[in-house]
Amino acid sequence: MRLPVLIIGGGLSGLAAAVRISRFGQRVLLVEQHTRPGGLNSWFIRNKTLFETGLHAITNFAEPGNKHAPLNRLLRQLKIKRSEIEFCPQLGSKILFENCETLRFSNDFNLFETEISEKFPGSIDNFRSLLTFLQQFDAFAPAPFRSARAFLDKIIAEPLLTEMLLCPLMYYGSSNENDMDLGQFAIMFHAIFLEGMFRPRGSIKEFIDLLLRHIQENGGEIRTGCRVQNITQQKNCAVAVMENGEEIECNYILSTIGSQETESLLQRDRGIKDDTPRLSFVENIFQLPYEALPAGAQETTIIFFNHGEKFHYQRPQSSIDPRSGVICFPSGFKGIARRELVEIRTTHLAATEKWEQLAMVPEAYQQEKKRCSELSCSTAESLIGDFAHAVTFRDMFTPLTIKRYTGKIDGAIYGHPNKIKDGNIGLSNIFLAGTDQGFLGIVGSMLSGVSIVNQHILPRL
Ligand SMILES: Cc1cc2nc3c(=O)[nH]c(=O)nc-3n(C[C@H](O)[C@H](O)[C@H](O)COP(=O)(O)OP(=O)(O)OC[C@H]3O[C@@H](n4cnc5c(N)ncnc54)[C@H](O)[C@@H]3O)c2cc1C
Repeated sequence: MRLPVLIIGGGLSGLAAAVRISRFGQRVLLVEQHTRPGGLNSWFIRNKTLFETGLHAITNFAEPGNKHAPLNRLLRQLKIKRSEIEFCPQLGSKILFENCETLRFSNDFNLFETEISEKFPGSIDNFRSLLTFLQQFDAFAPAPFRSARAFLDKIIAEPLLTEMLLCPLMYYGSSNENDMDLGQFAIMFHAIFLEGMFRPRGSIKEFIDLLLRHIQENGGEIRTGCRVQNITQQKNCAVAVMENGEEIECNYILSTIGSQETESLLQRDRGIKDDTPRLSFVENIFQLPYEALPAGAQETTIIFFNHGEKFHYQRPQSSIDPRSGVICFPSGFKGIARRELVEIRTTHLAATEKWEQLAMVPEAYQQEKKRCSELSCSTAESLIGDFAHAVTFRDMFTPLTIKRYTGKIDGAIYGHPNKIKDGNIGLSNIFLAGTDQGFLGIVGSMLSGVSIVNQHILPRL
């Protein structure tokens, strides 16, 4: 069998790429190692309830009339109607630096600007200079790493405000310790503060099913439980060898599994030792009755928090770092049907190697999971109020869970810190999309899949 295009990985970048290619009537096969597609954005069922594993909120909210907005461009490229998703905008979020300051923000940027002018009156002009800079800045132009932190130190000149601006943007889109690329900062600033956040009315399962339906209706094929073991490049074609020994010959391969992960399928040893630190996280889910949400939580979408003035975004010394994190209320979106049981979700930075050591003794791993879940719960309670007494179900996943289900090296959600922005890995018929191409998050990864297809594959078919 010889195919025009094979996509490796059924995460959101691979799914979006498959929708885009299949729209042009081209045969495309997507292979996913896991038994269900979705990758980092997946779901599981416990006690007859569907729990989402990845989605907090989707960034890049846009009104329908805004034709140039990334979200609307993405939907046009995929030929998906807004009515197929039904957008529920966030109620309102905040950046909370305990004992220091709080900044509220929503999908109305005026709120954020007003908050900054009230809480940091001496810095509002600097903040407006930053806005002017970002309006003119081409975040997509190829450039080496530029430190966003160094840039903000100069332009904002108020250390606490700099830390508060970086906290949500790093949590939702930095693969670098304690910093992020200025281009990535600009992309995330637009995505979170200027555009805002939303979620689909349905679950992530329904969102993934929608993408699968589009692929299948366009004639594309999806195989789950199908792991690519290696890839070889031959004259005028590429061959992917599946775990079961099957060989698939194709004109082009799009890999969405990560740059080093792809290199290892290619068995290309470039003799470069790579020990760049990768960041991973733990995620907790606490289910409780809606009525038991602490006061204020019913009107909140996300809290990005930090203890003290200095934000440490780095691999922790211990299994998790509870000093900062994200608290998400999936019921905190306009138009979401009220359910009897709702969730509070918390995220913290985690040290993969510590969890790997713990996993050598299964009881120790389970004990540490329990300890960290309780620590995370009490940390969240200290910020939002008590809820532990009302929890009806709890679950926690560690970097090892992410590694097991997605194959990501070190369970690093945002992949390798060095991005390959043009998707070019030095081969004429194998390209890279997804996390390691540089667009992060749900909209980012989908845009990545679509843009690499547009740039490298469609023009050649
Ligand atoms: C806890 C958590 C919370 C998050 N919250 C948000 C959020 O609120 N908002 C947001 O925008 N983003 C969020 N994200 C990030 C977002 O989920 C990711 O950025 C995005 O989904 C990445 O998609 P991807 O396709 O690039 O990669 P992945 O999802 O990793 O997809 C790659 C796929 O390739 C498969 N694969 C790997 N190796 C092989 C192989 N050899 N053969 C076949 N298949 C293979 C994997 O199983 C995986 O399914 C969150 C992520 C996590 C984990």
